[in-house]
Amino acid sequence: MPRPIEALIHTDALAHNLARARAQAPNARVWAVVKANAYGHGIERAFEGLRAADGFALLDLDEAQRLRALDWRGPILLLEGVFEPRDLELCSRLKLWHAVHCEEQIDWLAMHKTHEPHRVFLKLNSGMNRLGFTPTAFRAAYARLEALPQVDEIGLMTHFSDADAMRQGVDGIAHQLAAFQAATEGLAGELSIANSAATLRHAARTALDWVRAGIMSYGGVPDFPEHDAAYWDLRPAMTLRSKVIGVQQLQPGDTVGYGSAYTCERATRVGIVACGYADGYPRHAPTGTPVLVDGQRSRTLGRVSMDMLAVDLSELPASGFGSEVTLWGEGPHASRLPIDEVAQAAGTIGYELMCAIAPRVPVRNA
Ligand code: PLP
Repeated sequence: MPRPIEALIHTDALAHNLARARAQAPNARVWAVVKANAYGHGIERAFEGLRAADGFALLDLDEAQRLRALDWRGPILLLEGVFEPRDLELCSRLKLWHAVHCEEQIDWLAMHKTHEPHRVFLKLNSGMNRLGFTPTAFRAAYARLEALPQVDEIGLMTHFSDADAMRQGVDGIAHQLAAFQAATEGLAGELSIANSAATLRHAARTALDWVRAGIMSYGGVPDFPEHDAAYWDLRPAMTLRSKVIGVQQLQPGDTVGYGSAYTCERATRVGIVACGYADGYPRHAPTGTPVLVDGQRSRTLGRVSMDMLAVDLSELPASGFGSEVTLWGEGPHASRLPIDEVAQAAGTIGYELMCAIAPRVPVRNA
């Protein structure tokens, strides 16, 4: 018998969330961002739910090939462009759009002998200071690309660092938006600047021609805790669930797990769940991290170990050995535990939890 842990992918939720992106930005086209194996959901499964997207944005040629193998003939965007000059050949064969963020990538294009014209998105560093041309270098880079016979179309993009900022009185996008408008003024090309946070919170100013919907497609929100996924009507696309495989009846003063990190204050019934950090559950999730047991809320106790974690069953007399435990996502009896809530308890973000699902966890469609 396999361990009772599994990840379920809700393709209907993916389709719903994509529709939410469209509703937020009705005049824009949507790149569904499927990098990192579709944020841990698996490219192929994600494609089942997101096939109504206008395009797919990702990082690897390998992921692009997997999409083409699914017979996706529409736009694909390499968000960081190519990493080596030899990648350009496959790029043009697969008819990809690719970001151009540095002079080296333009040099490589200039040297590339191709019959298939390239389509690129020139990237501005508007303040994130990660990838992209500075506002002063941007127009010269555009002119270089425009002069290349290898380049057919040029889109214009940037990426926000603080679109999810909820600090009182702080608009996390204004300075980058102004930089983008100034740098691109008068240049022809499709525009793409909005990630999920901008699509949810600033669509009127940022949707432009294309939005890039990542985390929202998977039912997570970038800007917890002020507005959760339910507020934005986003549905979890991934459920991680397991079972109680052992029960301990403990007395006051007894401790739970490695490091004796939790000490019982009263008689406590503890359920041992087949899920640990080697499955992708965050080891740093402290005592009190929410879980659902048979669809009812409970909490973790003590340290997460490699293959197991402990949950409190004291208030759940009907639950015990064999009970279903929802680590995040959809539980039984219409229960739900947002991944963002677990992430927040563990001091991280939903993105990291989704991406960290370990290869040993079986994944199937819900
Ligand atoms: N665009 C770029 C360039 C990105 O790097 C990312 C993800 O980090 C996204 C869009 C999607 O972001 P999000 O998942 O917050 O929507």
